[in-house]
Amino acid sequence: MNQRIHAVRGMRDLFAADVAQLAHIEAIFREVLISYSYVEIRTPIVERERLFNRGLGSTSDAVSKEMYTFPDRGDEILALRPEGTASVVRAVIDQDLCYNDKPRLWYSGPMFRHERPQAGRYRQFHQIGAEALGYTDAVIDVELISIMTEIFDRLAISSSVQLLMNNIGTPESRTEFKRVLLDALQPVSHLLDDDSRNRLQSNPLRILDSKVPATQDILKEAPKLKDSLSDSSKRRFDEVLQLLDRANISYTIDDRLVRGFDYYTDTVFEWVTEAVGAQDALCAGGRYDELTELLGGRPTPAIGFAAGTDRIALIRQHLTEFEHRSVDLYVVPLSENAQEYSHEVAKHVRGSSNIKVREHIGQDRLKTKMKWADRSGAIWAVIVGDNEVANRSVTLKWLRTERTQVTIPLAKLTQTLTNSGER
Ligand code: AMP
Repeated sequence: MNQRIHAVRGMRDLFAADVAQLAHIEAIFREVLISYSYVEIRTPIVERERLFNRGLGSTSDAVSKEMYTFPDRGDEILALRPEGTASVVRAVIDQDLCYNDKPRLWYSGPMFRHERPQAGRYRQFHQIGAEALGYTDAVIDVELISIMTEIFDRLAISSSVQLLMNNIGTPESRTEFKRVLLDALQPVSHLLDDDSRNRLQSNPLRILDSKVPATQDILKEAPKLKDSLSDSSKRRFDEVLQLLDRANISYTIDDRLVRGFDYYTDTVFEWVTEAVGAQDALCAGGRYDELTELLGGRPTPAIGFAAGTDRIALIRQHLTEFEHRSVDLYVVPLSENAQEYSHEVAKHVRGSSNIKVREHIGQDRLKTKMKWADRSGAIWAVIVGDNEVANRSVTLKWLRTERTQVTIPLAKLTQTLTNSGER
Protein backbone atom coordinates (compact mmCIF):
# COMPACT_ATOMS: atom_id res chain seq x y z
CA MET A 1 0.00 0.00 0.00
CA ASN A 2 1.17 3.54 -0.67
CA GLN A 3 2.10 5.70 2.29
CA ARG A 4 -0.65 7.98 3.61
CA ILE A 5 -0.34 11.73 3.25
CA HIS A 6 -1.40 13.67 6.34
CA ALA A 7 -2.61 17.24 6.66
CA VAL A 8 0.03 19.87 7.43
CA ARG A 9 0.61 20.41 11.18
CA GLY A 10 -1.68 23.07 12.64
CA MET A 11 -4.03 22.90 9.63
CA ARG A 12 -7.20 20.97 10.29
CA ASP A 13 -9.78 19.02 8.34
CA LEU A 14 -13.21 19.88 9.67
CA PHE A 15 -16.27 17.70 9.36
CA ALA A 16 -19.99 17.53 10.02
CA ALA A 17 -20.83 19.05 13.42
CA ASP A 18 -17.66 21.21 13.53
CA VAL A 19 -18.43 22.65 10.12
CA ALA A 20 -22.08 23.19 11.08
CA GLN A 21 -21.02 25.01 14.27
CA LEU A 22 -18.66 27.29 12.31
CA ALA A 23 -21.28 27.88 9.63
CA HIS A 24 -23.77 28.86 12.33
CA ILE A 25 -21.26 31.30 13.86
CA GLU A 26 -20.45 32.76 10.44
CA ALA A 27 -24.15 33.15 9.65
CA ILE A 28 -24.71 35.18 12.83
CA PHE A 29 -21.72 37.42 12.11
CA ARG A 30 -23.02 37.96 8.58
CA GLU A 31 -26.58 38.76 9.72
CA VAL A 32 -25.50 41.26 12.36
CA LEU A 33 -22.87 42.95 10.16
CA ILE A 34 -25.31 43.28 7.28
CA SER A 35 -27.97 44.66 9.63
CA TYR A 36 -25.48 47.43 10.51
CA SER A 37 -25.11 48.03 6.73
CA TYR A 38 -21.51 46.75 6.56
CA VAL A 39 -20.55 45.58 3.07
CA GLU A 40 -18.62 42.37 2.44
CA ILE A 41 -15.18 42.56 0.84
CA ARG A 42 -13.18 39.54 -0.38
CA THR A 43 -9.47 40.01 -0.87
CA PRO A 44 -6.90 37.43 -2.06
CA ILE A 45 -5.32 35.03 0.42
CA VAL A 46 -1.92 35.76 -1.11
CA GLU A 47 -0.38 39.23 -0.93
CA ARG A 48 3.04 40.73 -1.45
CA GLU A 49 5.21 40.13 1.62
CA ARG A 50 6.05 43.81 1.87
CA LEU A 51 2.38 44.70 2.48
CA PHE A 52 2.65 43.01 5.87
CA ASN A 53 6.22 44.10 6.57
CA ARG A 54 5.22 47.68 6.15
CA GLY A 55 1.66 47.49 7.45
CA LEU A 56 2.04 45.30 10.54
CA GLY A 57 5.62 46.27 11.38
CA SER A 58 8.58 43.99 10.71
CA THR A 59 9.13 43.44 14.44
CA SER A 60 5.67 42.00 15.09
CA ASP A 61 5.67 38.25 15.79
CA ALA A 62 3.20 37.58 12.97
CA VAL A 63 5.65 39.06 10.44
CA SER A 64 9.09 38.33 11.89
CA LYS A 65 8.51 34.75 13.01
CA GLU A 66 5.23 33.38 11.77
CA MET A 67 4.61 34.44 8.20
CA TYR A 68 4.36 31.87 5.41
CA THR A 69 6.38 33.42 2.59
CA PHE A 70 7.50 32.01 -0.74
CA PRO A 71 9.06 33.30 -3.95
CA ASP A 72 6.65 33.66 -6.85
CA ARG A 73 7.72 32.27 -10.24
CA GLY A 74 9.38 35.65 -10.78
CA ASP A 75 11.53 37.12 -8.06
CA GLU A 76 8.82 38.62 -5.92
CA ILE A 77 8.26 37.32 -2.39
CA LEU A 78 4.61 36.58 -1.63
CA ALA A 79 2.95 35.75 1.67
CA LEU A 80 -0.12 33.89 2.88
CA ARG A 81 -2.02 36.61 4.73
CA PRO A 82 -1.54 36.47 8.52
CA GLU A 83 -4.51 38.81 9.13
CA GLY A 84 -7.12 40.79 7.20
CA THR A 85 -6.75 44.50 7.91
CA ALA A 86 -3.64 45.21 5.81
CA SER A 87 -5.29 43.56 2.77
CA VAL A 88 -8.54 45.47 3.23
CA VAL A 89 -6.69 48.77 3.49
CA ARG A 90 -4.58 47.90 0.44
CA ALA A 91 -7.75 47.13 -1.53
CA VAL A 92 -9.44 50.33 -0.35
CA ILE A 93 -6.44 52.33 -1.57
CA ASP A 94 -6.14 50.32 -4.83
CA GLN A 95 -9.83 50.84 -5.65
CA ASP A 96 -9.92 54.38 -4.24
CA LEU A 97 -12.95 53.38 -2.16
CA CYS A 98 -12.49 56.33 0.19
CA TYR A 99 -12.92 58.81 -2.63
CA ASN A 100 -16.32 60.30 -1.84
CA ASP A 101 -17.15 57.52 0.59
CA LYS A 102 -16.46 56.27 4.08
CA PRO A 103 -16.67 52.53 3.63
CA ARG A 104 -17.81 50.20 6.41
CA LEU A 105 -16.64 46.76 5.37
CA TRP A 106 -16.46 43.20 6.67
CA TYR A 107 -14.53 40.11 5.62
CA SER A 108 -14.35 36.46 6.50
CA GLY A 109 -11.66 33.95 5.64
CA PRO A 110 -8.65 31.84 6.53
CA MET A 111 -5.48 33.41 7.94
CA PHE A 112 -2.07 31.76 8.29
CA ARG A 113 0.54 32.01 11.03
CA HIS A 114 3.35 29.58 11.75
CA GLU A 115 2.66 29.45 15.50
CA ARG A 116 3.10 26.50 17.85
CA PRO A 117 -0.20 24.62 17.48
CA GLN A 118 -2.32 23.82 20.54
CA ALA A 119 -6.02 23.77 21.39
CA GLY A 120 -7.44 27.03 20.04
CA ARG A 121 -4.24 27.95 18.21
CA TYR A 122 -3.78 26.78 14.65
CA ARG A 123 -1.56 27.62 11.70
CA GLN A 124 -4.59 28.06 9.47
CA PHE A 125 -7.43 29.70 11.37
CA HIS A 126 -10.51 31.67 10.46
CA GLN A 127 -11.19 35.31 11.20
CA ILE A 128 -14.20 37.51 10.59
CA GLY A 129 -13.49 41.20 10.83
CA ALA A 130 -15.03 44.60 10.27
CA GLU A 131 -13.32 47.84 9.23
CA ALA A 132 -14.73 51.39 9.13
CA LEU A 133 -12.60 53.88 7.19
CA GLY A 134 -12.88 57.65 7.23
CA TYR A 135 -14.34 58.14 10.72
CA THR A 136 -12.74 60.00 13.62
CA ASP A 137 -15.76 60.28 15.89
CA ALA A 138 -15.73 58.11 19.03
CA VAL A 139 -19.23 56.96 18.04
CA ILE A 140 -17.71 54.60 15.43
CA ASP A 141 -15.53 52.94 18.09
CA VAL A 142 -18.67 52.19 20.04
CA GLU A 143 -20.59 51.07 16.95
CA LEU A 144 -17.97 48.38 16.29
CA ILE A 145 -17.97 47.30 19.93
CA SER A 146 -21.80 47.19 19.87
CA ILE A 147 -21.74 44.97 16.79
CA MET A 148 -19.48 42.44 18.50
CA THR A 149 -21.52 42.67 21.73
CA GLU A 150 -24.65 41.82 19.77
CA ILE A 151 -22.89 38.93 18.03
CA PHE A 152 -21.75 37.45 21.37
CA ASP A 153 -25.31 37.87 22.64
CA ARG A 154 -26.80 36.09 19.65
CA LEU A 155 -24.22 33.31 20.05
CA ALA A 156 -25.35 32.91 23.68
CA ILE A 157 -21.83 33.35 25.11
CA SER A 158 -21.92 36.96 26.30
CA SER A 159 -21.86 35.97 29.97
CA SER A 160 -18.53 34.17 29.42
CA VAL A 161 -16.69 36.97 27.65
CA GLN A 162 -15.15 40.10 29.05
CA LEU A 163 -14.39 43.30 27.15
CA LEU A 164 -11.05 44.94 27.92
CA MET A 165 -10.46 48.56 26.93
CA ASN A 166 -7.34 50.68 26.62
CA ASN A 167 -5.91 53.66 24.78
CA ILE A 168 -2.34 53.24 23.54
CA GLY A 169 -1.93 56.80 22.27
CA THR A 170 -0.28 58.00 19.09
CA PRO A 171 2.96 56.68 17.52
CA GLU A 172 4.70 59.83 18.84
CA SER A 173 3.58 59.38 22.43
CA ARG A 174 4.42 55.68 22.18
CA THR A 175 7.97 56.42 20.97
CA GLU A 176 8.44 58.61 24.03
CA PHE A 177 6.92 55.94 26.28
CA LYS A 178 9.13 53.21 24.80
CA ARG A 179 12.17 55.33 25.69
CA VAL A 180 11.01 55.82 29.28
CA LEU A 181 10.11 52.13 29.59
CA LEU A 182 13.49 51.03 28.24
CA ASP A 183 15.31 53.32 30.69
CA ALA A 184 13.36 51.71 33.53
CA LEU A 185 13.67 48.08 32.40
CA GLN A 186 17.24 47.94 31.11
CA PRO A 187 18.86 48.04 34.57
CA VAL A 188 16.68 45.07 35.65
CA SER A 189 16.73 43.22 32.32
CA HIS A 190 18.36 40.16 33.94
CA LEU A 191 15.15 39.68 35.97
CA LEU A 192 12.89 39.60 32.90
CA ASP A 193 11.80 36.40 31.16
CA ASP A 194 13.71 35.53 27.95
CA ASP A 195 10.97 36.63 25.57
CA SER A 196 10.61 39.98 27.27
CA ARG A 197 14.38 40.53 27.33
CA ASN A 198 14.50 39.91 23.57
CA ARG A 199 11.69 42.37 23.10
CA LEU A 200 13.56 45.16 24.89
CA GLN A 201 15.15 46.18 21.61
CA SER A 202 12.66 44.90 19.05
CA ASN A 203 9.22 45.60 20.52
CA PRO A 204 9.32 46.81 24.16
CA LEU A 205 5.58 47.57 24.30
CA ARG A 206 4.77 43.89 23.98
CA ILE A 207 6.58 43.29 27.28
CA LEU A 208 3.51 44.87 28.87
CA ASP A 209 1.34 41.88 28.01
CA SER A 210 3.82 39.30 29.29
CA LYS A 211 2.07 36.60 31.31
CA VAL A 212 5.22 35.64 33.27
CA PRO A 213 4.71 36.50 37.00
CA ALA A 214 8.29 37.75 37.60
CA THR A 215 7.99 40.14 34.65
CA GLN A 216 4.54 41.22 35.80
CA ASP A 217 6.00 42.09 39.22
CA ILE A 218 8.68 44.26 37.62
CA LEU A 219 6.05 45.98 35.48
CA LYS A 220 4.10 47.03 38.59
CA GLU A 221 6.94 49.44 39.37
CA ALA A 222 7.57 50.45 35.74
CA PRO A 223 6.26 53.64 34.07
CA LYS A 224 2.65 53.41 32.90
CA LEU A 225 1.53 53.84 29.30
CA LYS A 226 -1.47 55.89 30.43
CA ASP A 227 0.82 58.55 31.94
CA SER A 228 2.38 59.13 28.51
CA LEU A 229 -0.89 59.84 26.69
CA SER A 230 -1.52 63.23 25.11
CA ASP A 231 -4.49 65.26 26.33
CA SER A 232 -6.38 64.51 23.15
CA SER A 233 -5.86 60.71 23.54
CA LYS A 234 -7.04 60.95 27.16
CA ARG A 235 -10.13 62.92 26.11
CA ARG A 236 -10.88 60.42 23.38
CA PHE A 237 -10.61 57.50 25.78
CA ASP A 238 -12.99 59.18 28.25
CA GLU A 239 -15.44 59.86 25.47
CA VAL A 240 -15.43 56.23 24.27
CA LEU A 241 -15.93 54.97 27.83
CA GLN A 242 -18.84 57.36 28.42
CA LEU A 243 -20.51 56.18 25.21
CA LEU A 244 -20.04 52.56 26.29
CA ASP A 245 -21.65 53.37 29.65
CA ARG A 246 -24.56 54.98 27.87
CA ALA A 247 -24.95 51.92 25.64
CA ASN A 248 -24.94 49.70 28.75
CA ILE A 249 -21.90 47.80 27.56
CA SER A 250 -19.73 46.69 30.45
CA TYR A 251 -15.95 46.70 30.17
CA THR A 252 -12.78 46.55 32.22
CA ILE A 253 -10.02 49.09 31.71
CA ASP A 254 -6.76 47.21 31.22
CA ASP A 255 -3.88 49.64 30.95
CA ARG A 256 -1.53 46.83 29.96
CA LEU A 257 -3.56 45.87 26.91
CA VAL A 258 -1.37 46.46 23.85
CA ARG A 259 -1.71 44.96 20.39
CA GLY A 260 0.64 42.75 18.44
CA PHE A 261 0.70 44.99 15.38
CA ASP A 262 2.37 48.39 15.10
CA TYR A 263 -0.50 50.02 13.27
CA TYR A 264 -2.84 50.62 16.18
CA THR A 265 -3.45 54.14 17.55
CA ASP A 266 -5.54 55.32 20.52
CA THR A 267 -8.50 52.99 21.20
CA VAL A 268 -7.69 49.29 21.51
CA PHE A 269 -10.03 46.61 22.80
CA GLU A 270 -10.20 42.86 23.18
CA TRP A 271 -12.71 40.25 24.32
CA VAL A 272 -11.28 37.47 26.44
CA THR A 273 -12.78 34.43 28.10
CA GLU A 274 -11.89 32.12 30.94
CA ALA A 275 -13.97 29.33 29.48
CA VAL A 276 -11.28 27.74 27.29
CA GLY A 277 -7.68 27.15 28.38
CA ALA A 278 -4.74 29.34 27.54
CA GLN A 279 -5.94 30.77 24.24
CA ASP A 280 -8.28 33.25 25.83
CA ALA A 281 -8.53 36.01 23.20
CA LEU A 282 -11.64 35.82 21.05
CA CYS A 283 -11.70 39.14 19.27
CA ALA A 284 -9.35 42.09 19.11
CA GLY A 285 -9.48 45.49 17.53
CA GLY A 286 -8.66 49.12 17.63
CA ARG A 287 -8.07 52.33 15.71
CA TYR A 288 -5.41 52.52 13.03
CA ASP A 289 -5.44 56.16 12.00
CA GLU A 290 -2.06 56.07 10.26
CA LEU A 291 -2.15 52.76 8.39
CA THR A 292 -3.70 54.06 5.16
CA GLU A 293 -1.00 56.68 4.81
CA LEU A 294 1.70 54.15 5.67
CA LEU A 295 0.46 51.99 2.78
CA GLY A 296 0.55 54.86 0.29
CA GLY A 297 -3.02 56.14 0.54
CA ARG A 298 -4.53 59.44 1.64
CA PRO A 299 -4.54 59.93 5.42
CA THR A 300 -7.73 58.19 6.57
CA PRO A 301 -8.68 57.60 10.19
CA ALA A 302 -10.03 54.09 10.65
CA ILE A 303 -10.95 51.38 13.11
CA GLY A 304 -11.67 47.66 12.97
CA PHE A 305 -11.81 44.35 14.77
CA ALA A 306 -11.00 40.71 13.96
CA ALA A 307 -12.64 37.78 15.70
CA GLY A 308 -11.30 34.22 15.71
CA THR A 309 -14.20 31.93 14.86
CA ASP A 310 -12.31 28.70 15.70
CA ARG A 311 -11.97 29.86 19.30
CA ILE A 312 -15.58 31.06 19.42
CA ALA A 313 -16.59 27.57 18.25
CA LEU A 314 -14.50 26.02 21.05
CA ILE A 315 -16.18 28.08 23.74
CA ARG A 316 -19.63 27.37 22.31
CA GLN A 317 -18.84 23.65 22.44
CA HIS A 318 -18.14 24.06 26.16
CA LEU A 319 -21.11 26.22 26.96
CA THR A 320 -24.07 25.68 24.68
CA GLU A 321 -26.09 22.80 23.35
CA PHE A 322 -25.65 22.60 19.63
CA GLU A 323 -27.46 19.84 17.87
CA HIS A 324 -26.46 19.14 14.36
CA ARG A 325 -28.23 16.80 11.96
CA SER A 326 -27.40 16.62 8.29
CA VAL A 327 -30.33 14.35 7.32
CA ASP A 328 -33.93 14.83 8.49
CA LEU A 329 -35.78 12.52 6.12
CA TYR A 330 -34.41 9.33 4.52
CA VAL A 331 -36.26 8.13 1.43
CA VAL A 332 -36.20 4.39 0.76
CA PRO A 333 -37.40 3.02 -2.59
CA LEU A 334 -38.41 -0.63 -2.16
CA SER A 335 -37.56 -1.68 -5.70
CA GLU A 336 -36.19 -0.35 -8.94
CA ASN A 337 -39.78 0.37 -10.05
CA ALA A 338 -40.17 2.87 -7.24
CA GLN A 339 -36.91 4.69 -8.00
CA GLU A 340 -38.44 7.36 -10.19
CA TYR A 341 -41.21 8.04 -7.65
CA SER A 342 -38.64 8.15 -4.85
CA HIS A 343 -36.86 11.03 -6.70
CA GLU A 344 -40.22 12.77 -7.02
CA VAL A 345 -40.95 12.44 -3.29
CA ALA A 346 -37.51 13.77 -2.36
CA LYS A 347 -37.81 16.66 -4.78
CA HIS A 348 -41.30 17.48 -3.51
CA VAL A 349 -40.19 17.74 0.13
CA ARG A 350 -37.04 19.71 -0.72
CA GLY A 351 -39.08 22.10 -2.86
CA SER A 352 -41.75 22.72 -0.25
CA SER A 353 -39.70 22.98 2.97
CA ASN A 354 -36.16 23.28 4.30
CA ILE A 355 -36.21 19.66 5.42
CA LYS A 356 -32.93 17.90 4.58
CA VAL A 357 -33.71 14.87 2.44
CA ARG A 358 -31.38 12.01 1.54
CA GLU A 359 -32.35 9.28 -0.92
CA HIS A 360 -31.07 5.76 -0.49
CA ILE A 361 -28.82 4.72 -3.38
CA GLY A 362 -28.08 1.06 -4.12
CA GLN A 363 -30.01 -2.18 -4.59
CA ASP A 364 -29.78 -3.44 -1.01
CA ARG A 365 -32.16 -5.56 1.03
CA LEU A 366 -34.80 -3.59 2.95
CA LYS A 367 -33.10 -4.40 6.25
CA THR A 368 -29.83 -2.91 5.00
CA LYS A 369 -31.61 0.14 3.63
CA MET A 370 -33.25 0.74 7.01
CA LYS A 371 -29.87 0.34 8.73
CA TRP A 372 -28.47 3.11 6.54
CA ALA A 373 -31.56 5.22 7.30
CA ASP A 374 -30.94 4.80 11.03
CA ARG A 375 -27.22 5.48 10.75
CA SER A 376 -27.88 8.72 8.84
CA GLY A 377 -29.37 10.21 12.01
CA ALA A 378 -32.63 11.03 10.22
CA ILE A 379 -35.81 11.60 12.23
CA TRP A 380 -38.05 9.94 9.66
CA ALA A 381 -37.89 7.46 6.83
CA VAL A 382 -40.30 7.39 3.95
CA ILE A 383 -40.75 4.04 2.25
CA VAL A 384 -42.13 3.86 -1.27
CA GLY A 385 -43.07 0.64 -3.10
CA ASP A 386 -45.54 -0.37 -5.82
CA ASN A 387 -48.63 0.51 -3.72
CA GLU A 388 -47.31 3.97 -2.93
CA VAL A 389 -46.44 4.55 -6.60
CA ALA A 390 -49.96 3.50 -7.65
CA ASN A 391 -51.69 5.64 -5.01
CA ARG A 392 -49.26 8.59 -5.02
CA SER A 393 -48.81 8.03 -1.29
CA VAL A 394 -45.87 7.44 1.08
CA THR A 395 -45.36 5.24 4.13
CA LEU A 396 -43.90 7.38 6.88
CA LYS A 397 -41.86 5.77 9.65
CA TRP A 398 -40.57 7.43 12.80
CA LEU A 399 -36.97 6.35 13.39
CA ARG A 400 -36.41 7.84 16.85
CA THR A 401 -39.78 7.25 18.56
CA GLU A 402 -42.19 4.36 18.96
CA ARG A 403 -44.94 5.92 16.84
CA THR A 404 -46.58 3.54 14.42
CA GLN A 405 -46.04 4.15 10.76
CA VAL A 406 -48.72 5.77 8.62
CA THR A 407 -49.49 5.78 4.92
CA ILE A 408 -50.51 9.25 3.73
CA PRO A 409 -50.93 11.03 0.39
CA LEU A 410 -47.69 12.59 -0.92
CA ALA A 411 -49.50 15.94 -1.01
CA LYS A 412 -49.80 15.80 2.81
CA LEU A 413 -46.21 14.72 3.55
CA THR A 414 -44.45 18.08 3.99
CA GLN A 415 -47.25 19.41 6.16
CA THR A 416 -47.21 16.31 8.36
CA LEU A 417 -43.44 16.58 8.86
CA THR A 418 -43.35 20.32 9.53
CA ASN A 419 -46.38 20.20 11.86
CA SER A 420 -44.90 17.37 13.91
CA GLY A 421 -42.52 19.82 15.63
CA GLU A 422 -39.80 17.18 15.64
CA ARG A 423 -37.09 19.19 13.94
P1 AMP B 1 -5.07 39.19 16.02
O1 AMP B 1 -5.21 39.29 14.53
O2 AMP B 1 -3.77 38.58 16.46
O3 AMP B 1 -5.42 40.47 16.74
O4 AMP B 1 -6.15 38.11 16.50
C1 AMP B 1 -7.54 38.32 16.47
C2 AMP B 1 -8.23 37.05 16.90
O5 AMP B 1 -7.93 35.99 15.97
C3 AMP B 1 -7.75 36.50 18.23
O6 AMP B 1 -8.45 37.13 19.27
C4 AMP B 1 -8.07 35.03 18.12
O7 AMP B 1 -9.42 34.77 18.44
C5 AMP B 1 -7.85 34.76 16.65
N1 AMP B 1 -6.52 34.13 16.41
C6 AMP B 1 -5.34 34.75 16.27
N2 AMP B 1 -4.35 33.86 16.04
C7 AMP B 1 -4.94 32.63 16.04
C8 AMP B 1 -4.47 31.28 15.84
N3 AMP B 1 -3.19 31.02 15.59
N4 AMP B 1 -5.36 30.27 15.91
C9 AMP B 1 -6.68 30.52 16.16
N5 AMP B 1 -7.18 31.77 16.33
C10 AMP B 1 -6.33 32.81 16.27
